[in-house]
Amino acid sequence: MQIDKLEWDHEVISEVLNDRDQELVWRIPLTTAGREDVWYWVKDSKGMFSVKSAYRHQQQAHGHINLNVSTDMWKRLWNLKVPPKVLNFLWRVSANCLPTRFLLALRHVQVDSLCPFCSAAPETALHVLVRCNFAKLCWQQAKVPIVAPSAMLFRSWFEEGLSKWNEVESIEAAMTLWALWKVRNDVVWNSISPSSEEVIHVAKMNYSDWCKAQQFLVPSPGTTTTELLRLASPGISDEQGPVVLPQNVLDLLLRLLVHVLLVESHQCLGDALTNGVDLRGVTSSLDTDPHVHAGETLSTQQ
Ligand SMILES: [Zn+2]
Repeated sequence: MQIDKLEWDHEVISEVLNDRDQELVWRIPLTTAGREDVWYWVKDSKGMFSVKSAYRHQQQAHGHINLNVSTDMWKRLWNLKVPPKVLNFLWRVSANCLPTRFLLALRHVQVDSLCPFCSAAPETALHVLVRCNFAKLCWQQAKVPIVAPSAMLFRSWFEEGLSKWNEVESIEAAMTLWALWKVRNDVVWNSISPSSEEVIHVAKMNYSDWCKAQQFLVPSPGTTTTELLRLASPGISDEQGPVVLPQNVLDLLLRLLVHVLLVESHQCLGDALTNGVDLRGVTSSLDTDPHVHAGETLSTQQ
């Protein structure tokens, strides 16, 4: 192609390509607007690539989910005020990705496919989290209204629940589901005996711990987000904020500063200063520090 003229190079194309390919190249329209080419992601209205748009494209291309039907459900799910790990769990189970025994057996993993709570039915997500007698005991204690009694899939059940439960009930349901799966894992991997009281206790404790952590992180007037981030995770600092030095480096710098001041004072005042102040402790601690070459430091300062 002749870049300067924005047209095909007939000579090159005729020599290099066969007739069929030449024909295909001639059919490619060339712009006459004189603009430079830019990258454009066609799956986004603004042409900007995003993981979200790529994910939607993939899901639609493979027919995994009908996005039009379930948009409300996903919005309600992601808006739930519960710990991120619980949201992640709910997303996995709603997307049929939870590794239940039934799903593993379906994928040719050699496992017993029966429910670890009752051993009376295949362990599907709907069974182990909702329909199992043990799960029903937990739901009675959680006091979440019953929904979708004829649902055949967890996602249908959960979708109806999220559309009917109020905010508090939705949170209780989310935490109960997560706790049920946690206790189920304890039954499978640690051979504990399940108890519905334990499920409710785990659900409540986790939610209460998370709420306390959230209160700690709510900014009070005059407190910046950066400060809160540092409190939550020591070592995190934004690029424009002050540099946070480790304590041992600060100690070293402080001692060097004191030493330099004292040496300079000593030079200015002669013996007058040392008569009044005992310098032996400061000098000896610096000199005996294996990480500091006090002699070199002093010679450069002098
Ligand atoms: Zn069961």
